[in-house]
Amino acid sequence: MTNKMLIGNWKMEVGSRESVALARGALLALRGKKQLPEVVVCPSFPALADVRKVIARSHVSLGAQNVHHEEKGAFTGEVSARMLEEQGASFCLVGHSERRAMGETDAQVAKKVSELYAHGITPVLCVGETLAQRKSGISSQAVTNQLQSSLTGVSIRGRDRLCIAYEPIWAIGTGTPASPQDAVAMHDTIRQRIGILFPGLASSRLQVLYGGSIDATNAYRFLREPEVGGLLIGGASVHLSQFTKIIAEAADVLEGLSHA
Ligand code: PEP
Repeated sequence: MTNKMLIGNWKMEVGSRESVALARGALLALRGKKQLPEVVVCPSFPALADVRKVIARSHVSLGAQNVHHEEKGAFTGEVSARMLEEQGASFCLVGHSERRAMGETDAQVAKKVSELYAHGITPVLCVGETLAQRKSGISSQAVTNQLQSSLTGVSIRGRDRLCIAYEPIWAIGTGTPASPQDAVAMHDTIRQRIGILFPGLASSRLQVLYGGSIDATNAYRFLREPEVGGLLIGGASVHLSQFTKIIAEAADVLEGLSHA
């Protein structure tokens, strides 16, 4: 069955009160829809508990925006995968370019992925090329290298899922998304590489998403592509009307596909 996943990355934009309102909006947007996209909301750490209450027993899942790569210890201000599990997170972003820009390395990202799996949390691994790499025509190579080194030493077992978000760095927060055609081509590259890295991973356990300047005006053009497993949405996901419109569109695309 086709799945479309929508992940809202609320970054450091909204606190608990607004996060709760956005989560309620997501629930309302799904109400009455026959085909439901898988919606994941990623509030800031302090808002996780409040949002968890709102989405309990619903089709919306809780995600975190980051995790520390060590299991535990004297890491002031950090949050471990076990803590996220206790908070009810079932997804967590890793390797977001905004964190890589703060010094996060591929080796740390790989450790984060393993920590998350150890606690039953699905990683959403973000990869994407820089503008310079794109201009040099090495986008696929850059993304493939990033996948390889961000997943070194990672084992994927049994029912584990893996989400990869293709987020070209030049497209994040700039208002200029990739073209759906370029995104589709990179999704194919990603699927191929993950197939090589994890030959035992069933395709139904791999979700490849696009992220970068998605809003209510362009989301449909990506969602309608069968290769695009969903969207990672930053800026637009903290605007209730945009976020709910994108959710409704994903439900409509799935409804259309169910009749195709
Ligand atoms: C993101 O932060 O993951 C993202 C895709 O941001 P935006 O949608 O604002 O480009």
